[in-house]
Amino acid sequence: MRLLITGGCGFIGTNFVRLMRQRHPDWTLVNLDKLTYAGNRNNLARLEQEDDKYHFVEGDICDRQLVQSVLEEHDIKAVVNFAAESHVDRSINDPSPFVTTNVQGAQNLMECARIHGIERFVHVSTDEVYGSLGSEGKFSETTPLAPNSPYSASKAGADLMARAYFETYGLPILITRCSNNYGPYQFPEKLIPLIFLNAKADKPLPVYGDGLNVRDWIYVDDHCTGVELTLLKGREGQAYNFGGNAEETNINVVKTILQILNKPESLISYVTDRPGHDRRYAMDYSLAQRELGFTPSVSFADGMAKTIEWYENNGPWLQAVQNGSYRTFMNDWYKER
Ligand code: NAD
Repeated sequence: MRLLITGGCGFIGTNFVRLMRQRHPDWTLVNLDKLTYAGNRNNLARLEQEDDKYHFVEGDICDRQLVQSVLEEHDIKAVVNFAAESHVDRSINDPSPFVTTNVQGAQNLMECARIHGIERFVHVSTDEVYGSLGSEGKFSETTPLAPNSPYSASKAGADLMARAYFETYGLPILITRCSNNYGPYQFPEKLIPLIFLNAKADKPLPVYGDGLNVRDWIYVDDHCTGVELTLLKGREGQAYNFGGNAEETNINVVKTILQILNKPESLISYVTDRPGHDRRYAMDYSLAQRELGFTPSVSFADGMAKTIEWYENNGPWLQAVQNGSYRTFMNDWYKER
């Protein structure tokens, strides 16, 4: 396998690269990442130093010439597209970069892959494209797309483009739609690392609205396994849902972290709700179970314990992300490991 991974310096991409390296030592992995604020090259610095089958390329998925030359130079056979602007709150402040990267960038990758004659293309999407659920039911792959935020609308745009590239050009594309991920290397603008940091510092813990919005939480390695299974076994043109079988309210997630850290609930501070905040997501992943043999392997309790332990043991990683030194390649965090 000669695989191009885009966005490999982000949260899920980093975990995916590390897992694929462990499971498939013979694969060539090329990581194309623009290194936006969310990309941290130090996450994979050791691989970059020591592994001649891992290659890092700094660049933009919107850049036609660059993507074409990476595909040719490395004789790429398959693509997994993680690259995206991924934070809903940022998309509310300014949707433009979300359209540029998540729609135009994804389309550019598909076009380059088509011209190159790629054998497999996995486009990584999200449960948020389906919109919001009431208290009952789950999203299946046939649930109509009804995105509510600029982020989810941009992801849905790329999903539709992926469908069109399959139907029109026969591009061997597959889509994964996964629920909320958590685990090591998540940027601390997202709920779990943010709450961890604030709780450790005895600062208020911001919780949107009444805290009763429900997400289906999945440990990041389980999502990465879903992407791997899709790459290896999925039916071309098909979308697959992935979830962690762990529906939790935001407030329960926050209370779980407080319990693990032995901190008081008085730190919780309810703040004005996010506009267009989806109430509930839940995933029916039975198709992935039947066709790919997927099943989430990490329970919410175990996954949270592992995640908090990782943040406890990697304080310098969090500090580097907070003070901006993560932007320097081979920073102190990396050297200390
Ligand atoms: P992230 O924000 O942590 O990482 C995104 C990565 O993409 C960064 O390394 C960034 O530098 C890179 N990137 C951004 N724009 C780029 C561009 N134009 N060209 C090249 N690289 C670029 O995101 P994440 O949480 O790891 O999510 C990865 C993917 O998974 C996204 O497509 C996201 O929509 C999807 N997803 C995320 C979740 C979740 O819970 N985090 C759930 C389902 C799906």
